[in-house]
Amino acid sequence: MIIDAHCHAGPGDGLSGPWDTAAPLDRYLPRAEAAGIDRTVLFAAFHTDYALANREVARIVNSGKGRFYGFAFVHPERDRGRVRELIEEAVTAHAFCGIKVHKHDGRITREICDCAREYRLPVLYDVMGEVSVVELLATEYPDVTFIIPHLGSFADDWRAQYALIDHLVRRPNVYTDTSGIRRFDILEEAVRRASARKVLFGTDGPWLHPQVELEKVYALKLSEADEALILSGNFLRLVAQARSVPAARTRASAAAAPLRPEDPWDPEVHAAADRARLI
Ligand SMILES: [Zn+2]
Repeated sequence: MIIDAHCHAGPGDGLSGPWDTAAPLDRYLPRAEAAGIDRTVLFAAFHTDYALANREVARIVNSGKGRFYGFAFVHPERDRGRVRELIEEAVTAHAFCGIKVHKHDGRITREICDCAREYRLPVLYDVMGEVSVVELLATEYPDVTFIIPHLGSFADDWRAQYALIDHLVRRPNVYTDTSGIRRFDILEEAVRRASARKVLFGTDGPWLHPQVELEKVYALKLSEADEALILSGNFLRLVAQARSVPAARTRASAAAAPLRPEDPWDPEVHAAADRARLI
């Protein structure tokens, strides 16, 4: 099973570059299929209204009939005061299983982290080289999972990427993804020092070619077990804790199960679906 844990989808409403203009999947999907990628985690391109953008992503996720997972994009400044409302809609109405934040929009806030904690959602936070914040996040929110994509810098800032490895090694709740990493030696060192458990396969599609990104993982020449962790195992483990109702509400109802059997991100459901498909 191969899951691309980092891909954008849907229209943006800006005009500064591909990242805020449009993220069409028409070329990504056949490429991903040819590369053997089974499922993909989708979140919006940059947008001035993430409530709208997330709904468009939800429409795409639903059209995929199990092919996609959704993460809710939130803006630390513009969505201040309504983050919980956005997340509530994302998990209850759309069955999303994670949160995406980008420092280009603004630095991550307590409001977002508190919400992630409440719903047990992993946060994919692009720090744009500002790796030092990971120390604060890991200390203040040790029970929240943070995935810091591109080893901390899409812009190939090797100082940031090396610095992130230290956080991956020391902090159990800090992860990275392989998307967009060009300096292969740093990726190799991250896996060697922090272990395959801390690295998720991602492509940053549709702007990067999924097969090119996947070949980087194969080039690591890992054991079958370690490769499987990076390609899907880590992601499934991290979203397995996601809740469709807030922790506080669940505590009030002692009978509430942590996962409904029909939850699309439940690894057991996927395993059963895969078995059925084999038959
Ligand atoms: Zn991205």
